[in-house]
Amino acid sequence: STPINIKEIRDQFPVLDQLVNNKPLAYFDNAATTQKPKQVIDSLDHYYGRDNSNIHRGIHTLAERATSAFEDTREAVRNFINAPEKEEIIFTKGTTDSINLLASSYGRKYLKEGDEVIISAMEHHSNIVPWQLICEEKSAKLRIIPVNDKGEMDFEAYKSMLSDKVKIVSVVYASNSLGTINPVKEIIDEAHKYEAIVMIDGAQAASHLPLDVQALNCDFLAFSGHKMYGPTGVGILYGKRELLEAMPPYQGGGEMISEVTFEKSSWNDIPYKFEAGTPNIADVVALKEAIAFVDKVGKENIIRHEMELHDYAMEKISKFENIKFYGTAAEKVGVISFLFDNIHPFDIGQMLDSAGVAVRTGHHCTQPLMDLFNIEGTVRASFAVYNTKEEVDAMIASLEKVVKIFG
Ligand code: PMP
Repeated sequence: STPINIKEIRDQFPVLDQLVNNKPLAYFDNAATTQKPKQVIDSLDHYYGRDNSNIHRGIHTLAERATSAFEDTREAVRNFINAPEKEEIIFTKGTTDSINLLASSYGRKYLKEGDEVIISAMEHHSNIVPWQLICEEKSAKLRIIPVNDKGEMDFEAYKSMLSDKVKIVSVVYASNSLGTINPVKEIIDEAHKYEAIVMIDGAQAASHLPLDVQALNCDFLAFSGHKMYGPTGVGILYGKRELLEAMPPYQGGGEMISEVTFEKSSWNDIPYKFEAGTPNIADVVALKEAIAFVDKVGKENIIRHEMELHDYAMEKISKFENIKFYGTAAEKVGVISFLFDNIHPFDIGQMLDSAGVAVRTGHHCTQPLMDLFNIEGTVRASFAVYNTKEEVDAMIASLEKVVKIFG
């Protein structure tokens, strides 16, 4: 695969070209959300400037244009994750919305008292709370796969938790707080031996790791557009056709029905059954450009570049005294989570910001994981394809300053 041309890539991201607190912006908060290339921004502009119309019901030209642009993204997503059929792609607001849809619809229909749902100790709150809510409602039990000191899932423990009681396994592909890549294929295969269905939280995988739902054989996959160079407000729930067809609607309203009377309504086919109301048309349309961007650069190139930066940064940051890293798994995406003894992460975040360096501090919506490590949060730098070694150097230089002042 061809090496990436970093200047060419950076030129596509207008937001990167600015001073923050009089210093060149170094944006390392990519696990929270990535920046958007010009082709995504232009697509939004074009949609609102030329094609804006409500979709699916209109026969006029703009409605047809908007509808076909919207449905083109569905096909692009199908191709992006190698789903067999485009009807298996449901547009949602994001990963959180996708998991809530699944828990509310599938969970409400199939879970009963005494059943079990398995998640891991490194889940994002959005892959914890929806399951807590439905388990509580159904008197089902939520069970947690333990995580070791390095931030790796205990696979043997997972296997021992599986039984005929387990109906759903819902785990993260790559951890947003630690960077750990989980053995999702093996997790899925084990669960299927007990006929449990498996949902993969692909929020942190979508822009770095291969997502092939047929190779994985996952039953459901959720991810967000905004973490893969696309707009906010659009996400995906992929589900196998037969499972989606058997699921009741999540929300009622326009678009999701086939016929409505005051006595009874019947449901539209998938995917529309799960897309009640006017969807987020513009952002769905622009998501296609984000996919085109990722495909053009190539995920292998993206992850290779990010891991080079990760390794380069780790080598330098490891030289600091009194530093502790969280998430040192063998298989990782480009996320570095750390703490200095006796320096509050917020102080680090603030000092770095004053040098134009954007990192995230806090629990990263994984409070139970932080509890496990007995900490309140970490400082997290997460890499994207447009980051550079010079930016890493800027981060290291301001960390040196932090240590001098607070250490
Ligand atoms: N899961 C993971 C692993 C995430 O990193 C995130 C976002 N930080 C989410 C779920 C939730 O995604 P969203 O906020 O886009 O719904």
